[in-house]
Amino acid sequence: MLDRPALLDMTVEEIGAYLSGMKQPAFRAKQIFTWLHKGVSFADMTNLPKALREALAAHAYDIPMRLEQSFTSQRDHTVKFLNACKDDNIVESVLMQYHYGHSLCISTQVGCKMGCAFCASTLGGCVRNLSAGEMLAQVLLANRYLGISGHVGHIVLMGSGEPLDNYAQVVKFLRLVNHADGLNISLRAISLSTCGIIPRIRDLAQEALPITLSISLHAPNDALRQEIMPIAKRYPLQELIIAVREYVEKTGRRVVFEYALIDGFNCEPSHAKELAKLISGFQCHVNLIPLNPVKERALAPASPKQVQLFLQTLESLHVSATVRREMGTDIAGACGQLRNRHLNNATETDMIGN
Ligand code: SAH
Repeated sequence: MLDRPALLDMTVEEIGAYLSGMKQPAFRAKQIFTWLHKGVSFADMTNLPKALREALAAHAYDIPMRLEQSFTSQRDHTVKFLNACKDDNIVESVLMQYHYGHSLCISTQVGCKMGCAFCASTLGGCVRNLSAGEMLAQVLLANRYLGISGHVGHIVLMGSGEPLDNYAQVVKFLRLVNHADGLNISLRAISLSTCGIIPRIRDLAQEALPITLSISLHAPNDALRQEIMPIAKRYPLQELIIAVREYVEKTGRRVVFEYALIDGFNCEPSHAKELAKLISGFQCHVNLIPLNPVKERALAPASPKQVQLFLQTLESLHVSATVRREMGTDIAGACGQLRNRHLNNATETDMIGN
């Protein structure tokens, strides 16, 4: 994919193997790994010999991504980044500020092939998978942007792409970002959201990674779900729920179900009752998201009144649920919206670019 290897894609051992080809001692691998994960370029790795720094700069990539543009929400200080990969593909990430610190939403693919009817990420299909290093680079660029004002402490894999459709690189990223010599971000501070690829959910349960798994449900039965999520035709809800139950039993972690409330489609109290029945009896939480309208899609959000009634119905049935705070709606907060605008060269008068 790239003309040179990106060392940010590599484990310490892999960097060691790469360096041995350059006749370099093994201890340099950990030095380079530590620098890279601080976002430092080869040129500034001051404890490496100058000749090595120059050789690395000539033959490999350090941070395989650059910040192209950032947009700051005037409402809630959410920042949306458009980052350019080495092959000039554009990916987006979103930095949100919570009482517990900075959380970054990252992309796992350029585009997405899952075809969900409400989502902007999938409009142009999936261009390619992102590598583990390109996922890490999104975190490093956000840290660079924050400077001394803070650092990313929480990560959600909820940007463009289906993480479990890029399984190997996503799992590698999770291990790299948690590495003690690198960013050392707790796996418990990371959420991975999937549309529900059952075999990969089963694989993930075996990885012993204590992340939070989120399942994009968006409908309480197969007939409705199939109307908006093509993956539902492949994996029926009952099977998905069985796989998620197994995941909870195996990992001891609570799962989150995401449910976008779409006007006239899935937000009647009867749907809430059906949902409560579907997920009854195991450790889970429901995240209600008023649909973020996407220009290209003819779907509208439920009204605040409908959202409250849906929430109350779930609560009356003892389902743990919250309504997700909408953030960055003035800067195209929903998945893939900003990248699409960028690709379409639309005038971005409603956003503040930096
Ligand atoms: N592919 C993964 C992760 C990416 S999307 C998945 O499907 O889970 C992160 C979440 O945002 C998913 O729950 C997705 O369904 C939801 N989402 C996408 N577009 C949305 C929109 N326009 N409004 C509300 N939620 C949306």
